[in-house]
Amino acid sequence: MQTEGFKPFSGPDAFRVLSKAKARLNLDKMEMEDILNAVSSLGVLMETEIALIYALQDQICTRCGWCCTENTPLNAPKDELKRIAAFKKSSYKKLKKRIRARPNRDGTMRLTRHPCPFHGDGCSVYSVRPGVCRSVPTNMILASLAGNGSYPAKCEISDDLMAELVIKRALEEKMARETPDLMKEIADKKREEMGRLSQMTQAQRFQHLVSRHKARLKQV
Ligand code: SF4
Ligand code: SF4
Repeated sequence: MQTEGFKPFSGPDAFRVLSKAKARLNLDKMEMEDILNAVSSLGVLMETEIALIYALQDQICTRCGWCCTENTPLNAPKDELKRIAAFKKSSYKKLKKRIRARPNRDGTMRLTRHPCPFHGDGCSVYSVRPGVCRSVPTNMILASLAGNGSYPAKCEISDDLMAELVIKRALEEKMARETPDLMKEIADKKREEMGRLSQMTQAQRFQHLVSRHKARLKQV
């Protein structure tokens, strides 16, 4: 669980997330208090919730390019740049020169061009983009919740990801109140699932969490 610098999720960002969640929930069947509590409690995210939004962001990214112009210059490990060079059918040396990559002290490379040299009409290396790009906007959301940066409001999917968590938490609250026995059963299953998740690779874990979340939304 990420708890560092915890404070309730509030302000204009929380209002936008609240309206997105409300638009997706059947408000006749929900208590507004559950939804409001779910929004303000987003100051702390559970590990499985973080994994869920990491997995979802890959599926719903609109490729708007904001992070490619704002989130630069990039730092990327050499092997990620070598993978991009192979994808571009170029040598690593030529690619390095073209993107003006400079070595950092920690062995990674800094892409000094701004905006990102791979950004044109969208990302030209999307399938092999560096890990730092794959972690946007969840890494920025987590940093902002910990008080280490601004909430990435200009990323087109940040509010959608947070709204997913509001819906998840509000539904859990409703179930806990209305069907405590079922919730106990679910808690037992969750413990079993945590054991299974720990045996999976990260990719399998992400896929599993997304499928389970989608199945749960179908039941709403
Ligand atoms: S800003 Fe957000 S939606 Fe836009 S490309 Fe980056 S991650 Fe995707
Ligand atoms: S590598 Fe692609 S996703 Fe990453 S900043 Fe550059 S254009 Fe954007």
